[in-house]
Amino acid sequence: MKNSKHNMQIKFYEGDLPDRLNLGNIVAVDCEMMGLNPVRDRLCLVQISAGDGVCHLVKFKRGEYNAPNLISILSSPKITKIFHFARSDVATLMAYLGVLTAPVYCTKIASKLVRTFTQHHNLKTLCREFLEVELSKQQTCTDWGADSLNDEQLEYAALDVLYLHKIKDELDKMLIREDRVELANACFEFLPSRAVLDLAGWDDVDIFEH
Ligand code: MG
Repeated sequence: MKNSKHNMQIKFYEGDLPDRLNLGNIVAVDCEMMGLNPVRDRLCLVQISAGDGVCHLVKFKRGEYNAPNLISILSSPKITKIFHFARSDVATLMAYLGVLTAPVYCTKIASKLVRTFTQHHNLKTLCREFLEVELSKQQTCTDWGADSLNDEQLEYAALDVLYLHKIKDELDKMLIREDRVELANACFEFLPSRAVLDLAGWDDVDIFEH
């Protein structure tokens, strides 16, 4: 499926990525679930892109989470996974695929570390500010567990990974400018552990608080 407005290509798979798909050493990843609670709401879709305009979508059936090809990318120490709000997706991937996703880069954390002049750190805002691209958020509340997904759902899902490399590039420039690269890296390194804490019951507790 091609999309002229956003100049992207969507490749759709069921259950896992195909064998021998090489997406390079830095990939954008996003997940769609039945809701916001990783314990309750199952993983339905994983989107992944090398940043080349091609978005690979993997759809999961309930109870069928055997995806060795996807897992080898998510767990590879040589492949950085870019997310927007990695905490939630990393917890979900751990809960359903049993994989600890690392190393990660989170565009939301990077934004919070450098765009301290605003409270708006969602993907739509970053796409507008850095890339002058308007994302529709119409499919945010949609049934990702449906037996077959429609074109609007597939496009919406793909857009969540299409621009993450470019947004990372812009945020990296700001992290250098504001001298917060090391702090950002420390946050990204801790992030998988933060997701494990969420799943283990410390989800609404700040363990650093007094
Ligand atoms: Mg998404």
